[in-house]
Amino acid sequence: MTGDGPAAPGVEAPGSPPVVVAVDGPAAAGKGTLARRLAREMGLPYLDTGLLYRAVARQVLLRGGVPTDAAAAETAARALRAEDLARDDLRGPDVDQGASQVAAIPAVRAALLDFQRGFAARHGGVLDGRDIGTVVCPDAAVKLFVTASAEARAERRWREREGRGEEIPFAEVAAEMAVRDARDAARDVAPMRPAADALLLDTTGLDVEAAFHAAWKLVRLRLG
Ligand code: C5P
Repeated sequence: MTGDGPAAPGVEAPGSPPVVVAVDGPAAAGKGTLARRLAREMGLPYLDTGLLYRAVARQVLLRGGVPTDAAAAETAARALRAEDLARDDLRGPDVDQGASQVAAIPAVRAALLDFQRGFAARHGGVLDGRDIGTVVCPDAAVKLFVTASAEARAERRWREREGRGEEIPFAEVAAEMAVRDARDAARDVAPMRPAADALLLDTTGLDVEAAFHAAWKLVRLRLG
């Protein structure tokens, strides 16, 4: 970028630390779509941190283990490779629950922490997850906590799954999601919760475009 005008949000002034935007919140709140779009607008790299926990769960399951087995999950987390994140079987219901089970194991979180912090420290970025603003990047320039009503989130996830050809009752999707959110919020280490300085964004009733514009306004507000 050239010119002397004010830098766009995300563009670093020389010598300043790279800009980090934390996007946390419960399942199907719209974080991923939003974080990707913010990253694009701001010229920042994007990291879906949930994918790390999903990949750990998948590796444990592939080895015939159970995601609640702390030793197996820690081994998988320490051995995680880039190709494990590129698999196309990281989004099913077994991995949804498995990811949230391995994520409650302190040694798994510790094993994944340096990678996430290193990513943010190198070039800045938009990171989405559950504990970015509270634990991974507590100094992030912008922290958004994105949520939506339980019903709206369950409906989004149900439509997604129906769209993939699954026939599943809405109530089952809602119940699975409630179990996962409760586990994520109640765990002892790095529970899902808004950082004290997070800006809250409720996407209930907002489409993708409206949610982005609301988030963009908050980002600009925070970055001045
Ligand atoms: O965001 P996503 O639904 O892909 O995350 C899957 C699971 O990974 C979450 O339910 C949560 O248990 C865990 N997770 C986490 N911390 C993060 C990102 C995800 O504990 N930063």
